[in-house]
Amino acid sequence: MSTTTQDHCNSQAPLRFETKAIHSGYDRQANADAVSVPIYASAAFDLENAQRGDALAGGAISGFEYSRVANPTVDALENRLAALENGVGAVAVSSGMAAVTYALMCVAEGGGRIVAPVNLYGASVDALGDFLPQFGIHGDFVTDINDLDAVEAAIGPQTKAIYTETVANPSTAVADIEGLAALAHRHDLPLIVDNTVPTPYLLRPIDFGADIVVHSTTKGITGHGNAIGGVVVDAGRFDWTNGKFPQFTRNDLVISDQKAGKWNSFASRFGNEAFIKRVRTKYLRTFGAVQSPFNAYLQLIGLETLAVREKQEVASALAIAEHLQTLAHVTRVNYASLEGQSTHDFARKYLPEGVGTILSFTVDGDSTNVQRILNGTKVFSYVPNIGDSRSLIVDPTHVTHREVPQQYYDAAGVSDNLIRLSIGLENVDDLIADLDQAIAGAYIG
Ligand code: PLP
Repeated sequence: MSTTTQDHCNSQAPLRFETKAIHSGYDRQANADAVSVPIYASAAFDLENAQRGDALAGGAISGFEYSRVANPTVDALENRLAALENGVGAVAVSSGMAAVTYALMCVAEGGGRIVAPVNLYGASVDALGDFLPQFGIHGDFVTDINDLDAVEAAIGPQTKAIYTETVANPSTAVADIEGLAALAHRHDLPLIVDNTVPTPYLLRPIDFGADIVVHSTTKGITGHGNAIGGVVVDAGRFDWTNGKFPQFTRNDLVISDQKAGKWNSFASRFGNEAFIKRVRTKYLRTFGAVQSPFNAYLQLIGLETLAVREKQEVASALAIAEHLQTLAHVTRVNYASLEGQSTHDFARKYLPEGVGTILSFTVDGDSTNVQRILNGTKVFSYVPNIGDSRSLIVDPTHVTHREVPQQYYDAAGVSDNLIRLSIGLENVDDLIADLDQAIAGAYIG
């Protein structure tokens, strides 16, 4: 919208991540010199006069009218996230699942197919495998997204996108973003990625060819487990006029001036920003999963410390993953930064600073032992979330990934003996001691 994105200092050198996380996308002078982004708790904005109202509503000038479509606090968050992901624009929404479904529906609008792996977050598997098919949008699942031959074989005339998580939850398997982007582009398709687990601090998929990035900002971006949110970011590079996406090339009343007889499509009106403008103007405006200004504020605060939090949490996650490998009763540890993991080479290539703050492990015994571990931790909380400053533990097939069909368990990297950890900011020695006593205690007696 209308704010200044301060992505360059006076010398015009591009700013680094930590600096952008604090300054990008917000203009103090346009906001009473407030250093912290104000919470604009206003449903609507004064159009001032008939001429300005007409120009605003027609899109001839930019500004704010109604908070279902845009709000200054949310706008600052959107601009900041677009800057951090190196995109041309972003739309913040009320949850990660709103971001996932808006992106998938927008790309496959009118019906189509999406090629995706089975190791997605449970609600995304359910969306593509069961619910979106009710709206004519079907998932074609592959068991390994890095098997590019299998992905290519799954592409057909109705395919509209390849979709994957950059780092899968809870296996932490890393996707070959460059390989998938090249494959998608050979077929005139976009690559859409969910970058929730690594956050833009650890990985910026647009730099490796991804076209659309979605996040659950509930996780590491907010970082304190106190707000639900999501975002769609557009790289602004994909050609939506290639014949496969009529939703971008047909005339649309909402962006046209019928009184003047001037008709526009999203592609003719917005060029390389057609996708992100359509997400806002059709999906956000119609389905209305709006990010609240208060939640946007919490997420802006979270972003300011993202880099320092991620550094410490990733160091702790690695130490815990290495320690778990030495424990009796732990049969497997999943953390792609570890040597010997199946996607370790991609982890080194795309995520040299670490794959993120979650890891998972399997234990011997049965569900009683798993339950005793979950019940036995004192510092880890049994919570279905990730990316919190508190460390969290959960059993995915019973909670976060219970929608994953059992026949996909192996390929999805889940099993009934799998436990997921999300590592927070507590002292790592306390976290290790807590796991030690909970695991040992689960096999006594
Ligand atoms: N994507 C991933 C990878 C997730 O882990 C989650 C939630 O756990 C989501 C999307 C959905 O996010 P939200 O809970 O904010 O809707």
